[in-house]
Amino acid sequence: MGVLLVVCDGMADRPVVELGRRTPLQVAETPNMDKLAEVGSCGIMDPVAPGIPPGSDVANMALLGYDPYEHYAGRGALEALGAGLELGPGDVAFRCNFATVDASGVVLDRRAGRISTEKASVLAEAIREALEKADFGVEVEFVNTVQHRAVLVLRGEGLSKAISDTDPKVVGKPIKECVPLEDTAEARRTAEVVNRLTAFFREVLSSHPLNKELPKPANAILMRGAGSLPELKPLGELYGIRGACISAVALIKGVCRAAGLEVLDVPGATGSYDTDLGAKFSKAIWALGNGYDFVFLHIKATDVASHDHAVDKKVWFIGEVDKALGGALEALSLDEDYVVLTADHTTSLRTGQHEGDPVPLAIAGPEARPDGVERFDEISCSLGCLCRLRGVDLMPILMNLLGKVRRFGA
Ligand code: ZN
Ligand code: ZN
Repeated sequence: MGVLLVVCDGMADRPVVELGRRTPLQVAETPNMDKLAEVGSCGIMDPVAPGIPPGSDVANMALLGYDPYEHYAGRGALEALGAGLELGPGDVAFRCNFATVDASGVVLDRRAGRISTEKASVLAEAIREALEKADFGVEVEFVNTVQHRAVLVLRGEGLSKAISDTDPKVVGKPIKECVPLEDTAEARRTAEVVNRLTAFFREVLSSHPLNKELPKPANAILMRGAGSLPELKPLGELYGIRGACISAVALIKGVCRAAGLEVLDVPGATGSYDTDLGAKFSKAIWALGNGYDFVFLHIKATDVASHDHAVDKKVWFIGEVDKALGGALEALSLDEDYVVLTADHTTSLRTGQHEGDPVPLAIAGPEARPDGVERFDEISCSLGCLCRLRGVDLMPILMNLLGKVRRFGA
């Protein structure tokens, strides 16, 4: 008996005018999601707290049972874990972008024209070679991930994550100076290292021959989200389970690794509309049949559609997820395993932003109580027996169904 938790990023939405004031989930063709609602227990869930729009890192940390107000320690470390780097307790990690800047350091493109991963890899290698000959008083590790995205880790004594971003977040403004956010020697020192590195990266990159050919040269590195390793007691230790994560997104993989889940790579998982949903569900089914009790399956493109205000694409992609879910429900038995469906937050098609509205939740499986709800959407699920939960309540509920929660009291 195991749990497959399917988290569709930003799938929940508000009523949309173009859809006749219905949500994408209400409009999309979703017979399989509806089946989960019909045979299972339904509710709505505030990923973090009512009215709080969460980032995906914070939201998924909560869905895995960790109160983000207590445990969140910045995005950088989670990105680094997701990129496969190891992090020690005192290390400080950053999410980075290859960017295009002019001669005075004003940002012209925050993603260097979405440089290809191959080209970014060449530049990252040049950075690593230059770093070997340089001395910043701390160990510096730089790794590119997908396209313009990269991760920087500083290792050594006396570092602090209490420093500001260098990424101005908008074009037309110069790279920001990194400043300490607390009055400590560690924060001052870390900020100084970051500023020296920013200048160093510009020097290495602007003289690189590859950049001479690019219309938007990747001649600077922007840093943000300084973070350190969150101290999470692994799920394996908390519940005695073996868990796996299937996601294409480094940040989500990082959250899952921090929680002690094993990241299973799926060829064809892209984090985009073209992702191989069938392959992801197949891997999840394989994992449930091969010693894993808990599989966290994350699907990204629902969120992408909302960020892009792409109404039709969101409706269409929800339908695609439903078809893949249908395939999985044929291969799994709800008499043996639990299949749980939710979103990590609401992303509004209208605002293009994460919002603090609750998300729908359905828990189907051998001993889940059916509650008369027959459709999986934000409105129908609000009438279910799970009522309104917080994200951190989900794991205890699921682990209780698996018989993994110890009794409280005599
Ligand atoms: Zn998200
Ligand atoms: Zn998002």
